[in-house]
Amino acid sequence: MNITEVAPKLYLIALDQKKLPGFVSFIGSWLYKGEKTFLADVGPSATIPDLSDALETLGVQRLDAVLLTHIHIDHAGGIGDLISRFPDTPVVCHKSGIPHLEDPARLWEGSVKTLGDTAHAYGPFQPVPKGLLQDAEKYSEHGIMPLLTPGHAPHHVSYLIGDYLFAGEAGGVFSALTDGNFYLRPATPPRFFPETSSRSLESLMAVPHKLICYGHFGMTKNTPRILESHKAQLQLWADVIQQQFRSDPGQGIENRCMEMLLKTDPLIAGWHQMERSVQERERYFLTNSIRGFLGWVKGER
Ligand SMILES: [Zn+2]
Repeated sequence: MNITEVAPKLYLIALDQKKLPGFVSFIGSWLYKGEKTFLADVGPSATIPDLSDALETLGVQRLDAVLLTHIHIDHAGGIGDLISRFPDTPVVCHKSGIPHLEDPARLWEGSVKTLGDTAHAYGPFQPVPKGLLQDAEKYSEHGIMPLLTPGHAPHHVSYLIGDYLFAGEAGGVFSALTDGNFYLRPATPPRFFPETSSRSLESLMAVPHKLICYGHFGMTKNTPRILESHKAQLQLWADVIQQQFRSDPGQGIENRCMEMLLKTDPLIAGWHQMERSVQERERYFLTNSIRGFLGWVKGER
């Protein structure tokens, strides 16, 4: 069972995707088990049975709320399935996500269009019954503080519970490396606007917290320093990608940007020591993040 107690009352449940090579220690659900019990993100429907088993192992019989950082399939795809096992649990997300989770047909269509076979490996969305979904902007139960953090997605929300900050993908994608260092990359698919992400990072830095929990993957106590580093990283990427585009916007631009970033960005240098299948996974996401910056450089709105 893939459960780690990372801090008092805080558990990381790893949802390894058996059908996707390299998607190990990449997707997770956070369980806060104090006087009240919450989940932050639930992963895709393919691993809801694993999540349910983990909750059973941890003696969780009821949830006070499920907090969704955003409605992408790898974070929220399983919410309909999970909620059928925990009926009447409020589900908190950005208001623009509510109609899509109540009727996920378009969400599924969009996931298949963007991700292809990967979407099928994650599994389809089931609808969340009407009335359970709550607008994060208006939610203030149990001392949970939702923070609107657009950037990775326009509807992205982070949550502060006590000293713990659940940042989804607003602070990038984090991975602890075996040598004690870490890897951190932007999660900036198109359409991406650096100023929006930077503002969100500033609002995360502004709330006192002792620990940051990533949507991908794990946590660190090195915060807010890591948020500052990530902000500087976005600036570096903007500079490098702008420079590459200006010198030659033609063929191979994505690969040239990737090569240059792997040389100049120390936060992604750990890519070189990753296992082959993880490198492949990261190559895909790095390219997609570069595409987000390229769209911005080209002025796409
Ligand atoms: Zn994600």
